[in-house]
Amino acid sequence: MRKILILIASCFAFATSSALARPLTVLISIDGFRADYLGRGVTPTMSAMAAGGASAAMRPSFPSKTFPNHYALITGLRPDRNGIVDNNMEDPAIPGVSFRMSNHDAVVDRRWWDQGEPLWVTAEKAGIRSATMFWPGSEAAVHGVRPSLWLPFDQSKSAESRVDQVLAWADLPSEQRPQFITLYFDDVDTMGHTYGPESAEVNAAATRVDAAIGRLEAGLKARNLEANIVVVADHGMAAVSEDRELFIEDHVPAGTFRTLATGAFMTLVPLPGQEAVVDKALVGSHDHLTCWRRGQFPARFHYGQNPRVAPIFCLPQTGWTVYSRARKPNYLEKGTHGFDPAAPEMAAVFVASGPAFKAGVRLATFDNVDVYPLVARLAGIVAQPSDGSLAPVRPALKPKGR
Ligand code: AMP
Ligand code: ZN
Ligand code: ZN
Repeated sequence: MRKILILIASCFAFATSSALARPLTVLISIDGFRADYLGRGVTPTMSAMAAGGASAAMRPSFPSKTFPNHYALITGLRPDRNGIVDNNMEDPAIPGVSFRMSNHDAVVDRRWWDQGEPLWVTAEKAGIRSATMFWPGSEAAVHGVRPSLWLPFDQSKSAESRVDQVLAWADLPSEQRPQFITLYFDDVDTMGHTYGPESAEVNAAATRVDAAIGRLEAGLKARNLEANIVVVADHGMAAVSEDRELFIEDHVPAGTFRTLATGAFMTLVPLPGQEAVVDKALVGSHDHLTCWRRGQFPARFHYGQNPRVAPIFCLPQTGWTVYSRARKPNYLEKGTHGFDPAAPEMAAVFVASGPAFKAGVRLATFDNVDVYPLVARLAGIVAQPSDGSLAPVRPALKPKGR
């Protein structure tokens, strides 16, 4: 009898401690880390993670921009459904305000974000602590809830100090330690825009971020903390050139429209009374350029039902850019993104490793919304209904994935 009691007690103790000892889940975004950068031999930490875990090329959601895709990754909803339909947008229900990444008031205003529920909000509602070492949306009290631990976005904060902040959070006593943590790096995207995706500068930035991820792994190991680490990017990067520029005034008269976004695509709002002129001039195919009306995009973009989507959207062939002569930037980028998510240049990296993952699994390309159910499962958070599916990544998980 006594033996049985001891056995029951020890089983109970094991169950309790294994529940408490769920590995941390860290979701890392390397902005603009194109899928093929992983094969360049400049990121030893990530290559080792891929060898010991899973890797894939991931398809971003349309449009392949930063805010829409970070919100797709963390909500499992495509931009048309998560409400962040572009880095630059307007909403008839929020009159007089333009959403822009640089407009701090907008970035912290939950009305822009409330159409989706980020995973940290779902976690907090369930009593699971979360922390964001930057992530678009993390500065707003989405649905009235913020991560337990977060910092205002500061691009000048070094990669090392971002990692050290995550490690400081991991050092908190277990009842305060976050179970789910996001970590964001912008360096690779910035170098991709400035010098182009084939540049030595991009490779050097990839190496710097890779070293920061190595620092995180080493720090967790030194603390004896197990973690499932999922590294993603929001989109890739395509080389662009002055030889491949389009000007919208070659198709539609100046003075009939205003633009919200230019470059890898153009979003236009016809001026009052000019709707028919702009529509007739633009909707359809042109040399290196296709324009759609809101609501009439190809189905594979899953885009255009949200009232925040601009009335006219013009997408160049990948590698071409479109500007208005009135708003041409004087600074020319060597790389950009926002192109068709099916273009190989837009593919984003995915690498994951940790106790939940089998070693050396190369997955077939999947949609970035599929990251959401994976990360929810790793962190023990009940996923909300989403556009994503665990099926494409399931082959990478150990049978009893933790
Ligand atoms: P994109 O050009 O679409 O790739 O945007 C990348 C830029 O987004 C970065 O260089 C940052 O300046 C900016 N960014 C990223 N995260 C945030 C954030 N949480 N808040 C404000 N700006 C951000
Ligand atoms: Zn980005
Ligand atoms: Zn970018």
